[in-house]
Amino acid sequence: MSIIAIDGSSATGKGTLCSKLAQVFDYAYLDTGALYRGVGYELLKNGFSPNDENKAIEIAKSLSGEKMLHLQDESVIRTEEYGKAASIVSAFPGVRKALFEFQRRFAQNPVKKDGAIAQGAVLDGRDIGTVICPDAEYKIFLTARPEIRAERRFKELQLKGLCVIYEDVLSDILARDKRDSERTTAPLKPADDAFILDTSDLTADDVYAQVVCFIQERNQKVPQTRLGGQF
Ligand code: C5P
Repeated sequence: MSIIAIDGSSATGKGTLCSKLAQVFDYAYLDTGALYRGVGYELLKNGFSPNDENKAIEIAKSLSGEKMLHLQDESVIRTEEYGKAASIVSAFPGVRKALFEFQRRFAQNPVKKDGAIAQGAVLDGRDIGTVICPDAEYKIFLTARPEIRAERRFKELQLKGLCVIYEDVLSDILARDKRDSERTTAPLKPADDAFILDTSDLTADDVYAQVVCFIQERNQKVPQTRLGGQF
């Protein structure tokens, strides 16, 4: 089973890159951030604080495999509010433990959206290369300057018609980075053998091209015909 592990902070371009890789390679794709967002969403929706560790663990344990698989398609969890809640609950070891098995199973037996078995998987998160799939053949870690990421997120939110202030977006990003990288369990950090790519001054096409070069270098067997294409 071929596994492409993509880690990095928010707004570094992981989602766009993963979708493209999954499409070109015909692999199954799991956005693991959706699992933590799902826990955050259920907590807030039921009137609990995101800091309520016991409740967060209870919710994480109660999520069925089916539910976890479909969380990534739910647009309601995509707000900054649930992103922040996700980053708080993701620091609880019990929550990470409850979501670990599902992610491992997905990587070992990847299933595409249409239910077909895939020959490989693309997983997107913070600890895929270090904890979930330390044996992945391809590990990529995306970074970008916080100001650039805030600018991207700011434009995204504006396009959604939301009234946002750039400074608030930047401070949310910095706070989330701090929580994600300073937590004791599975902190955000590149695996020792990861390809680290700073996407600050790159287009989505550039990022894709550089990652494909890395994959080709790692594995000369990847058919050339499947590596082309633009966004
Ligand atoms: O990627 P996304 O912004 O959806 O992730 C939301 C939050 O979930 C992250 O800020 C991070 O705290 C947490 N997360 C994590 N481990 C993952 C994926 C996401 O801790 N593998």
